[in-house]
Amino acid sequence: MYSQPYMDYNATTPCAKEVIDAMLPYFQEDFGNPSSSHHPYGWLAKSAVEDATHEIAGTLGISPNSLIYTSGSTESINMILKGVVRKFGAKGNHIITTRAEHKAVLDTCAFLEEEGFEVSYLGVDAKGLVDTHDLKEALRPDTLLVSIMYANNETGVVQPLEEIAELTHANGSLLFSDTTQALGKMALDPVLEQVDFACFSAHKVYGPKGIGLVYVKDNEEGVALPSFIQGGGQQKGQRGGTINTPLIVGMAKAIQLAQVDLETEQLRLETLRNRLEAELLAIERTISNSRTAQRLPNTAHISFPYVDGANLLTALGRQIAVSNGSACNSASVEPSHVLLAMGVERSLAYASLRMSLGRYTTDGDIEKAIEIIGSEVARQRERNILWERRR
Ligand code: PLP
Repeated sequence: MYSQPYMDYNATTPCAKEVIDAMLPYFQEDFGNPSSSHHPYGWLAKSAVEDATHEIAGTLGISPNSLIYTSGSTESINMILKGVVRKFGAKGNHIITTRAEHKAVLDTCAFLEEEGFEVSYLGVDAKGLVDTHDLKEALRPDTLLVSIMYANNETGVVQPLEEIAELTHANGSLLFSDTTQALGKMALDPVLEQVDFACFSAHKVYGPKGIGLVYVKDNEEGVALPSFIQGGGQQKGQRGGTINTPLIVGMAKAIQLAQVDLETEQLRLETLRNRLEAELLAIERTISNSRTAQRLPNTAHISFPYVDGANLLTALGRQIAVSNGSACNSASVEPSHVLLAMGVERSLAYASLRMSLGRYTTDGDIEKAIEIIGSEVARQRERNILWERRR
């Protein structure tokens, strides 16, 4: 167990004890296959999955029929984007997304471009927001799908989904919003009303890794999206393969726990985040990359001019768990594509940190973070001749 403060909750979260307790019986005593319809082992597993599905649907205020289990948001995003073009391709071959999406969306769109689909990439402004006038201009009669995330995983910035949904639907197009980061951090009922598709991942909300959801608003018959995994006919044929009872039970518990005291937790996190941010922004010349827009309560994203980003991260890595962007992209030495899309200069984008707080973040963690980051930034700057010569 590491003792350094963990401030990378947007990358992943630890499994809550209640979640582990809820899952445990389904690994051993109640291990049956929900598709085994001839004995009680199967019946019990099936009913646990049904209960979990109803629990998730009830918590999110949606229909149980609108949910399809996957291995996580990356798979959900692939299923939605590829499924929509396969199923509804007759309307056209144009997709609209933004340059600030998670790589799971951007890489799937790049794949679809290779398959002959046309993708328009909207920019975002310095606040990280999509300009709805740009969307209006980009929409065409053959626009099949608009894919715009709700809350950004790096900056936490929240897009104006209501307006986006209005424009998209007025054009007769479908709307997918990547809601992975908003789950457990913001109320989602209004969003799920507005979009046609959304996705979730349990490991972002103190649930297990390897389980997620596709949300299809209009999935009453279970026919809204084609399956990419054939075999067995599970999940009404929408995704073949043995249903993972323990992980599904764990995800339901995690989602339910995340909704309990959501407002109190939002306030607590926002207070901690604002304190961290205020102290770091008090350091000379530092810049917030997200403070001017509506955003997640747990996320701060700050640039430190006159600091070498790679050196900063390496030095901090031994003392505190923060990141400079998306964990899913950490193999890359490129600066954050989200910051570049916001017009942040390359060298500054390198010298930026995302700090994402969570359920187990304490006042003590914030104090340590302020101290550790503050002294490391000062140390890096002392070595930089340009810092001395600044005006
Ligand atoms: N979308 C967003 C906004 C994310 O933050 C992530 C994970 O970082 C994903 C998609 C991918 O989720 P998963 O790890 O469940 O594949």
